[in-house]
Amino acid sequence: MLTDKLDKSPEVKARFDKFIKTFYQRFGEKKGVKIYEPRVKFYGFGHFYINEEEADSPTAEMGHTATPENEELLVSETYEAFRLPMEINLNQIYLLNHGSLGMDTFYPRDPDKFGGFSVSFDKLTETMAHELVHALQNIMNIDKGRKSLKEGQALFSQCASSGEREGGRPDGKLLHPD
Ligand SMILES: [Zn+2]
Repeated sequence: MLTDKLDKSPEVKARFDKFIKTFYQRFGEKKGVKIYEPRVKFYGFGHFYINEEEADSPTAEMGHTATPENEELLVSETYEAFRLPMEINLNQIYLLNHGSLGMDTFYPRDPDKFGGFSVSFDKLTETMAHELVHALQNIMNIDKGRKSLKEGQALFSQCASSGEREGGRPDGKLLHPD
């Protein structure tokens, strides 16, 4: 992909990481969320991902809050977390709006027939804010998760608009898992 070089740049990653960690702390403290709770491990920015299957889809998952690859979410039988590691990952198409590339809309299909996905800075901050709310909500519900529909995983936060799918629509309201 056009953005592969940027994806590998430690500088670009560090910038996203700093941004995410700063706002995580700011939002968390402002909302009185227990971000320093010892069971919570927040790693900030994880990685950019490409979702090939979305090329034909009218929506794209622009970000998601996930368990890092070499980490494990540990939960009790009643879905209370013993260990809650999290990272925020972003769709790599955001890098199209970086420096010399400078696109603010991504068209996976014929632009004359279909709309594109915004990759503007506003949209990026919106996606990050949405994912940060998920991360903070995960912490707020650390003792009251529930069984997810996919593979019996635990779920601590959920989008209203897209079911369990994360970030499909950043305007989607977040639901409490109760
Ligand atoms: Zn969401």
